Amino acid sequence: MSYDVIIIGAGPGGYVAALKSAKLGFKTAVVEKDRVGGTCLNRGCIPTKAMVHATELYREMQNAKEYGIFAENISYDYGKILEYKQDIIDKLVGGVEQLFKSNGIDYLKGLGTLEKDGSVTVSGGEGAGNYQAKHVILAVGSKPALVPIPGLDSEGVLTSDELFQLQEVPKSLSIIGGGVIGVEFASIFASLGTKVTILEALPNILANMDKDISQNLKLILKKRGIDIHTSVKVEKVEKETEGVSCFYTEKDEPVKVTSQYVLCAVGRVPNTQGLFGEGVELEMERGRVVVDEHFKTSMDGVYAIGDLIKGLQLAHLASAQGICLLEELAGHKRSIDLNVVPGCVYTSPEIASVGITEAIAKEQGLEINVGKFMMSGNGKSMISKEERGFIKILSDSKSHAVVGVQMMCARATDMIGEFGNAVANGFTVEQLLKAMRAHPTYNEGVGEALEDVFGEAVHS
Ligand code: FAD
Repeated sequence: MSYDVIIIGAGPGGYVAALKSAKLGFKTAVVEKDRVGGTCLNRGCIPTKAMVHATELYREMQNAKEYGIFAENISYDYGKILEYKQDIIDKLVGGVEQLFKSNGIDYLKGLGTLEKDGSVTVSGGEGAGNYQAKHVILAVGSKPALVPIPGLDSEGVLTSDELFQLQEVPKSLSIIGGGVIGVEFASIFASLGTKVTILEALPNILANMDKDISQNLKLILKKRGIDIHTSVKVEKVEKETEGVSCFYTEKDEPVKVTSQYVLCAVGRVPNTQGLFGEGVELEMERGRVVVDEHFKTSMDGVYAIGDLIKGLQLAHLASAQGICLLEELAGHKRSIDLNVVPGCVYTSPEIASVGITEAIAKEQGLEINVGKFMMSGNGKSMISKEERGFIKILSDSKSHAVVGVQMMCARATDMIGEFGNAVANGFTVEQLLKAMRAHPTYNEGVGEALEDVFGEAVHS
């Protein structure tokens, strides 16, 4: 069988690329060894956000008395929370499979292997066979990384994939890694009553984000009972009678924390097992496939997108790369501006960022003006008792073009969209101020932060 496009991997990179490919008129097949939707739908974005939603609701109900609402004996059934999460995953996965059908895409179940002659062999599933294609797109994504800490293979040490399989709420959980995945799980389980400890090697949690955000989040999570240790080095992990212990060094002192489970959340590595047939040697860098700006690998007719290639590992970026690549294969001009990839963290309050931070502006010697509005002065935030947090807007001091925005407030992950658009199109503060923001909304904070770029915020 011969195709125009074969895509290996049906995560948000691969399945979106497949749909775009079919819509552009290419004869398309997609190979998947597990379930469509990839990490994002099955073990990542969607299940974590479902868990965030359910557990935040539980936490809010416990605080309902602050609104004069008295709910007695609030409790949860973890099994039901897992069912709710799985139901959403199944609906979304089913929806993607349906879209494959309705768009005439051949869904080849099995492990996809790229052969030296550019063909794709599918094995171990209903799609088994060897297939030819003009263009092969590798979109095999990533899996949890395990760092070389002695004892990480001990019983009770879990990756994020395994944590989703647990049928019980851990009594205590130590999380190695205070990045996005680490803090989201910390927030989820702390809401359910788990005693959570975060061990982070760098001086801040969410170290890649704006310093104000990481420092404020640390305070908020600590207030919720999460024990956070930064600048620590985990030396070894050991299974002991009372649980799993992390032995770490903090300010040169040896310390130990014992918990029922340990989550290793130290990053993700590409999922290339079984991907390359004999004699296939693509150019790689630190385990990731090297591509040029058109997603071309070192092998003719072979492209790669998503978590498999260098750069941020985010679902929306993988999808955008898939769309961009297919448009280019169809002869249309498209490109991706990596400066407008939003970064979101689904804690409470939410965190969202786009463009550059103050630290990066300083590194680049860029003269900027900063407008900042504290959400304690925002009516809607008061109504929902979510006054903690701020909106920060960075603009070029000469042109006034918005170059970066960081938000830590309710609905930040939705509100950042406006600024992706602004940074992508070089909109100035004055242009953004032409829009009127409804009252009362969290969005009013955006208007205030924009005014504050000129030191003129009204409610501060
Ligand atoms: P993947 O989603 O990993 O999909 C790759 C697919 O390829 C998989 O289905 C796999 O089974 C298949 N595959 C692999 N090898 C083969 C082969 N040889 N043959 C056939 N099939 C193969 N990102 C966000 O943007 N927002 C979030 O909120 C977010 N939350 C996350 C939470 C967690 C806990 C985790 C782990 C990740 C999260 N991410 C989030 C990251 C996001 O899931 C990934 O960036 C995204 O899924 C990458 O998409 P992808 O298509 O490159 O790969």
